[in-house]
Amino acid sequence: MNRINLTAQAPEAGRLDRAPVPDATALIRGAYLLDPRAGLDGVGDILVRDGAVAEIGAPGTLEAPDGAELVEGEGLHAFPAFVDPHVHLRTPGREDEEDVDTGTRSAAAGGYCAVLAMPNTDPVVDSAPVLRSLRERARAEARIPTGFTAAITVGQNGERLTEMAELADAGAAAFTDDGLPVRSAGIMRQALRYQRLCGGVLALHEEDPTLSRNGVMHEGEVSAVLGLAGIPSVSESTMVARDCELARYEDGRIHVQHVSARETVEIIERAKAAGVQVTAEASPHHLLLTHDAVRSLDTHFKMNPPLRSEDDRQALIDGLRAGVLDCIATDHAPHSREEKEEPFEPAPMGVTGLETAFAALHTDLVLSGVVDLSLIVERMTAGGEPFGIVVPTLAKGAPANLCLVDLAAEWEVGESGYESRSANCAFGGRRLTGRVRMTVAAGAVAFRERSFAIEAVR
Ligand SMILES: [Zn+2]
Ligand SMILES: [Zn+2]
Repeated sequence: MNRINLTAQAPEAGRLDRAPVPDATALIRGAYLLDPRAGLDGVGDILVRDGAVAEIGAPGTLEAPDGAELVEGEGLHAFPAFVDPHVHLRTPGREDEEDVDTGTRSAAAGGYCAVLAMPNTDPVVDSAPVLRSLRERARAEARIPTGFTAAITVGQNGERLTEMAELADAGAAAFTDDGLPVRSAGIMRQALRYQRLCGGVLALHEEDPTLSRNGVMHEGEVSAVLGLAGIPSVSESTMVARDCELARYEDGRIHVQHVSARETVEIIERAKAAGVQVTAEASPHHLLLTHDAVRSLDTHFKMNPPLRSEDDRQALIDGLRAGVLDCIATDHAPHSREEKEEPFEPAPMGVTGLETAFAALHTDLVLSGVVDLSLIVERMTAGGEPFGIVVPTLAKGAPANLCLVDLAAEWEVGESGYESRSANCAFGGRRLTGRVRMTVAAGAVAFRERSFAIEAVR
């Protein structure tokens, strides 16, 4: 599989694009460096220069070169920046909800150094011209390297494959019909054959529409009490089982998006053990919330797949720990205020999450002692790995992709608005602990909190 280089020098050489920005020269002093993959776990200095991590040293040992920014890192943590393989930038077509500029600002504010955008736009990203125009737009507007996925089927109608080879040549980051499942096993088989020829991966929104029907939440005791139509767990798990079998048969590579059910975790675990090339992601909302939240009929708890039971949530956490779930992806899905203000049943599915992912996971899983901080950092950093994107690291010589986080900072979600153009966040109004102060993406400063001061060396 091709490896994509995230360095600032040549983002266009890969399948990720961003607007041109100068490389940062910055000395971050005395931050706690945590990078599980590189084995970094202690206080140190880190020098960013020429797009790379130029030096790492014991605290107080690195000299700032002329013109460098001095960043006081004391009391802060430095992590490799996060990669989100599943965001909706709503461009083209719904720029009133999000666009490349606001979506990537939102990502940078959440500590992300790269994102992959979904193709369920208007028009659908199912042809090379649409893909090329998006890449052009990213080269003008994107704050961080941004990749665009292309649809598996024309118009995402599930009937005819897109020109996958041409789209791969045009720089598609992956293929997915996200938002909709690929209903037909025959079409999925064909897609897997093309995937093998073109490389890359098929990212799959798994749901059997004949089982989901008109469901609006998880099918279980809460849906029964509320009298709402449910989406059963088997709607997801039966399709994942089908596609793992097809991937095994065709020797194809699949990535299961937003896993929500215990059964799905178990199927992926067995498929991996059998050597199937399958990876999987879980979202912060599925890791932290359950269908109990829907009792409020607040549409900020309406998403697809739906929030499921506490037992499912525990299975996702176990799956994350065990590595059955390879990474965390937000499925950041902006919707207009008017649409989310509709009653629960007609309201659209989906929530935003780029700006709250780390803080929500830190508050509810790390501070409560459920999982280690290093696990969350590793799984949030690993989001691009199934797609051939080099995993960010703080190791010397690596492309500079890092975020500085104040783990003690408390804040109320939405109190000072969002970088995203939309506000439909599942954690809106919650008090969270942990705040991203600064993000460096591909060598350049992509986000700096307004109040976070730096000084320049003359
Ligand atoms: Zn989806
Ligand atoms: Zn999605």
